[in-house]
Amino acid sequence: MPVGNNASPDLLLNLKQREYMYHRIREIRAFKGGKPIFAFDFQNDGEFVGGCIAGGRFYCHINPNGDVEPCVFIHYSNANIHDMSLLDALSQPLFKAYQKAQPFNKNHLRPCAMLENPKSLVKIVDSVKAKSTDLESPEGACHLCGKCESYAENWAPVAERLRKENPKQKLKPKGQLPDA
Ligand code: SF4
Repeated sequence: MPVGNNASPDLLLNLKQREYMYHRIREIRAFKGGKPIFAFDFQNDGEFVGGCIAGGRFYCHINPNGDVEPCVFIHYSNANIHDMSLLDALSQPLFKAYQKAQPFNKNHLRPCAMLENPKSLVKIVDSVKAKSTDLESPEGACHLCGKCESYAENWAPVAERLRKENPKQKLKPKGQLPDA
């Protein structure tokens, strides 16, 4: 994830590496004959959780400063646990906007508001004027998402091919977990 002003997009998995991970995690998991363990690859397993779980849908992240962020990779917030209850932080406009926009893509192999749908994150952050909570060097959403645009574009056709090869990938109503 190319998060931070100095992050290098060159370190992102290339298309072949990501597709390898998609198949490899399913091989390790091996529902038939494998180990009884649900190894999980958060970026390639959106089909099991209906896409992105962030923004308080099923998960959020609190940084060392107390800022309540949508996800460990999404360093934006207008709520801090030193100023309000966690319940109030979970109701912040950023989380509401996040949940309203989910799923960010009908193809759960493109779940992320940042990595695979970078325009979505810029729109959400701008709509509620969320502040950067990056403790090292505040980064604007346009700068962050600009690093993901070509990745998102290149990954889209591969994700679409994999989705078609996997008939289990179905979109469920909001808030409902797909069948395992
Ligand atoms: S914001 Fe992206 S990385 Fe975070 S939970 Fe959602 S899909 Fe995963």
